Amino acid sequence: MHYETIIGLEVHVQLQTNTKIFCGCSTAFNPDNPNVQTCPVCIGLPGALPVMNRRAFRLSLKTALALNCQIARFTKWDRKQYYYPDLPKGYQISQYDLPFSFDGFVEIDTDVEKGETKKVRLIRAHLEEDAGKNMHDETGRGHDSHVDLNRAGTPLLEIVSQPDIRSASEAKTFLEELKLLLTYIGVSDCNMQEGSLRCDANVNLHVHTDDGQKIATPIVEIKNLNSFRGVEQAIEFEVARQFEEWQKTKHGINDVPKQTRGWDANRGATFAQRGKEEASDYRYFPDPDLTPVTVSDEFYAEVKSELCELPAARRRRYRADLGLSHYDADVIVAQGDHFTNYFEQVASLCGDGKQAANWLTQDILRELNGRSLTIDTFPIKPTVLGDLLKRVATNQITVKSAREVFNVLLDEYDAGHDATHDSKSVTDHDSAFDLSTARVESIIGERGLAAVTDTSAFLSVIAAVIGRNPKPVADFKSGKQAAVGALIGQIMKELKGADAKVVREMLIEELSKS
Ligand code: ZN
Ligand code: MN
Repeated sequence: MHYETIIGLEVHVQLQTNTKIFCGCSTAFNPDNPNVQTCPVCIGLPGALPVMNRRAFRLSLKTALALNCQIARFTKWDRKQYYYPDLPKGYQISQYDLPFSFDGFVEIDTDVEKGETKKVRLIRAHLEEDAGKNMHDETGRGHDSHVDLNRAGTPLLEIVSQPDIRSASEAKTFLEELKLLLTYIGVSDCNMQEGSLRCDANVNLHVHTDDGQKIATPIVEIKNLNSFRGVEQAIEFEVARQFEEWQKTKHGINDVPKQTRGWDANRGATFAQRGKEEASDYRYFPDPDLTPVTVSDEFYAEVKSELCELPAARRRRYRADLGLSHYDADVIVAQGDHFTNYFEQVASLCGDGKQAANWLTQDILRELNGRSLTIDTFPIKPTVLGDLLKRVATNQITVKSAREVFNVLLDEYDAGHDATHDSKSVTDHDSAFDLSTARVESIIGERGLAAVTDTSAFLSVIAAVIGRNPKPVADFKSGKQAAVGALIGQIMKELKGADAKVVREMLIEELSKS
């Protein structure tokens, strides 16, 4: 007996607008000043009339296109009725039977090393308003509960996937890819701490019994997961719980109504909340205060033209055109568009994508992490690194020398940085140190790092070292390949800046001659 895990996700993403979806109130995150960003529309006073925020619609259309969705040219607004203290109108304005987009997909990497990908299909993406926030006294001392309506009416894009996800880690990968995509196209900051990206997970199992039956267990919806780790852990917990439950009760999908569960991160467990309402319980009907929306060909084309190259396409291009491995392409694209722009500048300046990728994924990422910097604040600019790596690509210096120059540049930056801090001076940092291509040139000169390109000079050194070392030479000739290492070390000491690979080839050629 074994089972498959079946997961569908519903993601709510806050769109980056300055004002709410149906009124002019600010959407700024402002938990310290509750209920200041409100008006008659978003607190639901009788007679107040909503007006659609065009920018919110534009951003959601852009997102739907990036999610490969079909776009409905006619779409409308519906009221979803339910009562909750953080929903003063008694209904949420959402989209029911005519969502503005449907039938999309997100491509995710299922195995980066092997380069395996998978398309998670999307049922629909629709636009709706957020509710406010209830704040309950959690000390158990019976203090009041509060409602903050600053968030009420914030535009949300709800993205619903097909149950195509097969494991907790795949769910996490899907969310990471979605977040990357949304930040690339600039429609949301996806700040999970501030609730800009929340996720509900629908989970059940397909149990394959020994007698060849396939039984679907009851579906559970885990609500309001607000961290990638939370999603992964909650699903893992739920899968184990459902399998145990099934072994005890043998309940199939139609034996129990759909259940809603919460996630307690402290206990690391899900807990039962309520029976899940059916769509009919909400008594959806078209909102009479809002006009339907039509999408013209011009508007569609205009929004489509604003889309930048998406992460999946970027990875493909890096692999196909720049020869990067799946892994390197993945690491670079995952850092965001500023990092990829830096990478592309360096790669085009030095003419060697793989070399650029090595430096970006190792040296640069290590320095950024160690110094808590972003690529925008990193002191070595892409023009300078590109110039340095071009010298490697054209054999003017070795990789080892390039690394020495790189470290000298950073040391000089640190020294200049400290000096300006010590003197509490606010003068321009750039005057204290110089991280230019001219400085690269002068460091190479000062340290004698220029590669000796005239290989005729190598021969005399190689001959001298061979002459001085009869034992390693004899060892090599009797078949001990490793013996050349000692000889190369001595040669490199004298030929500072020489390409060790060239030296090695020349040495072996000389040894096999004599
Ligand atoms: Zn308002
Ligand atoms: Mn929703």
